[in-house]
Amino acid sequence: MEMSAAVFRKVHEPLTIEQVEVDKPRGREVLVRTVATGVCHSDLHVVDGLGRFPLDRPFVLGHEGAGIVEAVGADVTAVRVGDHVVACLSGFCGTCPQCLSGHPNVCTGGIVARPEDATPRLSQGGKPFRTFAAIGSYAEYMLLHENSLVRIEPDIPLDRAALVGCGVLTGVGAALRSAGLQAGQTAAVFGCGGVGLSIVQGARIGGARQIIAVDQFDSKLEMAMGVGATHTVNSTQDDPVKAVRALTKDLGVDHAFEAVGVAQLCRQAIECLAVRGTATIVGVLPPDATIEFPWMAIRPECKVQTSRMGSNQFRTDIPNYLEFYRQGRLDLDSMISRRGQLDDINDAFRAMKAGEVARTVLMFN
Ligand SMILES: [Zn+2]
Ligand SMILES: [Zn+2]
Repeated sequence: MEMSAAVFRKVHEPLTIEQVEVDKPRGREVLVRTVATGVCHSDLHVVDGLGRFPLDRPFVLGHEGAGIVEAVGADVTAVRVGDHVVACLSGFCGTCPQCLSGHPNVCTGGIVARPEDATPRLSQGGKPFRTFAAIGSYAEYMLLHENSLVRIEPDIPLDRAALVGCGVLTGVGAALRSAGLQAGQTAAVFGCGGVGLSIVQGARIGGARQIIAVDQFDSKLEMAMGVGATHTVNSTQDDPVKAVRALTKDLGVDHAFEAVGVAQLCRQAIECLAVRGTATIVGVLPPDATIEFPWMAIRPECKVQTSRMGSNQFRTDIPNYLEFYRQGRLDLDSMISRRGQLDDINDAFRAMKAGEVARTVLMFN
C-alpha cells in the first residue's frame, strides 16, 4: 500500500514528503492509521547528525504517534482492528533479564524491528527504508510490533494521547519512577520544553512542595508556572545554582533534573543538590560529552543517575497518565502550543530549535 511520509535522506536537509510503500502486517505486527504525532527532539537529533543512527538508507522519522488499528498480523493478541493506540519507543520483548526484572524500558531483547535481512516494512521502488525506533510516525500509517503499542480508551483525544507516548511519559516518569520523588520534597528542573514541563507536572503530581523551573526563555518559564512550578529562574539573568540555593535557604533541592542534554546544565543540576539529593539526567548528551564538577561543590551522599524514557512500564503507565489527564491532574492541553499537518514538519523543527514551543502536534486527515 502507498502512503505519504516525511522522509529523511541527508543530515541538515529538510525532510521531503514522498510516497512510500508499506508492507502488510506479519506475525505480531500491527498496521496503525496515524491520527496524530508529536514532534520530538530525538527526531531533530537525526536531522542534525547528532545521534548514533545508521544513515545508510532513507528514514521515516517520528515516534510520538497515536492512531487507530487498521489491520493485525496473525499472532497479535494485544490489540484488535479499530482499537485506539499510542506508540512508544520502549518496545519490549518480555523475556530478557531487564524485562523480567520490571525494567522493559531498557529491554535488550531487540524484537520490535524486523531482521535486517527480512522484507522491509517500508520501501520505495523496492529499496528499503528505516523507521525511527521501529515506529515512523511521520507517515499516514505505522507498521510496528504489538509490543511497541498500548491500547487506550477511545474517548481520549488522540492528539493529547500522542504526547504521552514519549515526552510526557519521559518527564512524568523521570520524577515519579526514575527519581522516586516523595511528597514534600523539593525539585529543580533545568529546561522547560515538552520533557521539562512534564517533569514539572510529575513533581506536582508526586506532591513536591517546591518546584523550581530553570530556562533561558521567559515564555517557557510562564508555561512551567502554568503546569505547577512554584518558582522560576531565567538562566540568562541569574546564576541558576545561586538562585536555587537562595530559594531553598541554602539547603539545595532533593531532586534536580536535566532535561536538555547539555553538560553545563548537568553540572549545575548536580551543584544545586541538597544533602542526599539526586540529580537525574533525562536529556541526551552528545556521545563525546563530559560532565565535570568540583568535588567540593556537591553535598554528602548525593547521587547522579540517568533516566531512560522515564523508567517506564508503558503498557500500564500510559493508561495511568491518561487517567490523570481525564481527572484534570495532568495538563496535556497546554502542552500543545502548535499544530500542523505532515508538510509542516520542517517548520515544526525550526520552531523547536527557536525555543518557541512545548510541542507541535501534526494531524492527519
Ligand atoms: Zn521522543
Ligand atoms: Zn526485554
